[in-house]
Amino acid sequence: QAKEAGRGGFCFFAPEMNARLMERRAMELDLRSAMANGELFLHYQPQVDVRTGAVIGAEALLRWNRPGYGPIPPTHFIALAEEIGMVGPIGAWVLQEACRVAATWPDPIGVAVNVSPVQFRQPGFHATLEAALRASGLAPSRLELEITEGVLLHNTDATLAGLNRIRALGVRIAMDDFGTGHSSLGYLQKFRFDKLKIDRSFVETLDGDANAAAIVRAVVGLSEALGLTANAEGVETAAQVALLRAEGCTEVQGYLFGRPMPAEAFGQLLRAGGTVPR
Ligand code: C2E
Ligand code: MG
Ligand code: MG
Ligand code: MG
Repeated sequence: QAKEAGRGGFCFFAPEMNARLMERRAMELDLRSAMANGELFLHYQPQVDVRTGAVIGAEALLRWNRPGYGPIPPTHFIALAEEIGMVGPIGAWVLQEACRVAATWPDPIGVAVNVSPVQFRQPGFHATLEAALRASGLAPSRLELEITEGVLLHNTDATLAGLNRIRALGVRIAMDDFGTGHSSLGYLQKFRFDKLKIDRSFVETLDGDANAAAIVRAVVGLSEALGLTANAEGVETAAQVALLRAEGCTEVQGYLFGRPMPAEAFGQLLRAGGTVPR
């Protein structure tokens, strides 16, 4: 990173590094206007009760239709949005749009929205959240925020107060990518989550890896003991479903049950009965 090197007092750029910086600068300019140009959109991935095949909600996943590049996944631009101060406005748009769309689904089908640590720490976040609920008329119980350990890493008291204020609204809080952080268990003691999302890396290795199976079993047991829901992310095979079911995991999400899809397609899935083959 040029900024880091610059701290040493000097830095120079190799030609390929210069090209990378120019590409980043171009992406930054494009990203600054992406929202106003209507280039952002959300896909919705079904969340399923594995016992019945019922679709119980969807996770909203952000996409950017960057001109000349096609749809860009969030992993390629969220960090940049955080750095250039755009994650607040973009995150506010995601909340508004997800709540607006979810309000058209039958009650109690809910929507889960990812919140970045930088977005969460912004002073206006709570007001943005309340505004999205008010404008859409969505019942707070149908909204879930997915946070990662990055949210809990700093400002512990302020963070906990912020999370408690959100839960007091009736909005649920899920811990995303559970098991990949540094002290996930410590966070469980400090804050009362509604859901743990077992990271895809554990689900991926479930068939064949006894350790992964033991970890999933432990997380499901932990969730039960704490009165939380366990959700297994990234389910791709029937064998994984069988193992998850055997471990008592009830909520699943993954390509096997449905890829992230446009709002119209998810609405259609609900109108067609709201179940998927299991
Ligand atoms: P995440 O919240 O853990 O989302 C799950 C990711 O796994 C999504 O990638 C989803 O498309 C992918 N996925 C779901 N099922 C499967 C599967 O069966 N197999 C495989 N290989 N992948 C699966 P996506 O959409 O590229 O999002 C990546 C990450 O970007 C998300 O991870 C989340 O952390 C972040 N993100 C997405 N939307 C937003 C947003 O609106 N705001 C913020 N701040 N972050 C977002
Ligand atoms: Mg998520
Ligand atoms: Mg995740
Ligand atoms: Mg992830």
